[in-house]
Amino acid sequence: MNIEFPVFKTKTDGVTKTFDMSDPVSRREYFNAKCGDEIIKIKEFFDNGNTFVAYFLGKKNSGKGTYCKLFSEIVGPDRVVHLSVGDLVRNANEAAKDPAQLAEIKKFMEENYRGFMSIDECINALMSRDVGSLLPTEFILALTKMEIAKHPRKAIFLDGFPRQMDQVTYSLYFRDLINYRQDPDFFVMIDIPNTIIDARIKSRVICPICHTPRNTILLRTKEIGYDKDNNNYYLICDNPGCEGFGKEKMVGKEGDDKGIEAIKDRLATDETLIEKAFGIYGIPKILLRNSVPVDVAKDMVDDYELTPEFVYSYNQAENKVDVTEKPWTVKDDKGTESFSLMPPPVVVSMIKQMAKTLGL
Ligand SMILES: [Zn+2]
Repeated sequence: MNIEFPVFKTKTDGVTKTFDMSDPVSRREYFNAKCGDEIIKIKEFFDNGNTFVAYFLGKKNSGKGTYCKLFSEIVGPDRVVHLSVGDLVRNANEAAKDPAQLAEIKKFMEENYRGFMSIDECINALMSRDVGSLLPTEFILALTKMEIAKHPRKAIFLDGFPRQMDQVTYSLYFRDLINYRQDPDFFVMIDIPNTIIDARIKSRVICPICHTPRNTILLRTKEIGYDKDNNNYYLICDNPGCEGFGKEKMVGKEGDDKGIEAIKDRLATDETLIEKAFGIYGIPKILLRNSVPVDVAKDMVDDYELTPEFVYSYNQAENKVDVTEKPWTVKDDKGTESFSLMPPPVVVSMIKQMAKTLGL
């Protein structure tokens, strides 16, 4: 990306304890230790009947869903809703099959839609299979407003914007959503190196039976198997509710071995749109980056905030797989050797910037 996102310091004076990021109780203590004051202020903001609209701008697989989930874990799930534009278009495609719901959509559009395609043409596009690419931006905008209206008392994280927009509609798109609610709104922009997205895709696996997602190098299961013939390590499903518990070998999806190759165009488009959004004046911006250059990491973050990489080796004497951890390093988009941050420190930086943005 051509925009420089600052490294956010989450290392905090007086906080010397090590927290376990995968344990919900320890994670709560972590957030209270690192941004407890801001959390109290944001909760008060909600208690006083306020909400906000945050537009998530990040590439595909940049962790938007995870950040939103952690945020709602902190402030309470009843106060936040995560809306994906892609999902709501797909849901509307489904809803349009029901005559009553279709009538409701039409009614809303007659009152709220303005665009170059007629409502009937838009409805036809909505009901077609290739719905995403046929619908005009103006109609997607109206659908989004319709969905937002269903959550009047909740803070909204809106994720995903129509692609291929021209410059004018792009700034008006956000402006129009702002007018609909009287809440403060802001961008939450995410900078993630392509190398991280690439590695996440290449090493992600699922259980063929229960579909639990894991990652061979970043998010392992308890038990690791070793295939001697191919000198290959694999994860074994550890979901207690799965028939394959303790025995089913987790596998990668077809094509995942190619990494970002398959979504390269999409990532480039996302990047262009984010850069364009960055140039819009008049809206506050929260900048998140989930990598930190190795040479400044010591001063800016704590060791346990860095994503570890699992390294496996076969222990012949005991016929088992030994697992060791080391900090995972990648080259960021500028070629700088960097660590990848765990989601919680990224959320700490979001919460601190959010409190400031909301004037709390
Ligand atoms: Zn399973």
